[in-house]
Amino acid sequence: MSKTTIHQEVLEANAAYAGNFGDKGKLPMPPGRRFAVLTCMDARLDPAKFAGLSEGDAHVIRNAGGRASDDAIRSLVISYKLLGTKEFFVIHHRDCGMLTFNNSIISDLLSKSLESAVVD
Ligand SMILES: [Zn+2]
Repeated sequence: MSKTTIHQEVLEANAAYAGNFGDKGKLPMPPGRRFAVLTCMDARLDPAKFAGLSEGDAHVIRNAGGRASDDAIRSLVISYKLLGTKEFFVIHHRDCGMLTFNNSIISDLLSKSLESAVVD
């Protein structure tokens, strides 16, 4: 599938989503259920489904492995200090791809090339 096809699919999906957004555009900025989730970016995970979320319910911060990185912590602090969340959930999962390599491997891959790489 070409980039143009994926790009077009995403634009069409977004147009349909935005077209049906309705009153959700009037939701307040602070999350209504006053919690945040930090989890993995794994494509098999859908935080809205596994945590029972709807638009406006919670902040969802994602990265590779669901790590409490500096940037994730920055987002959680903003969520708590500025947007009223009271609880954080850090959610990991089985079969995480981040367990298939270590810092040495990724460092080596990056030192050789910033182009796409594959870990066998
Ligand atoms: Zn993962």
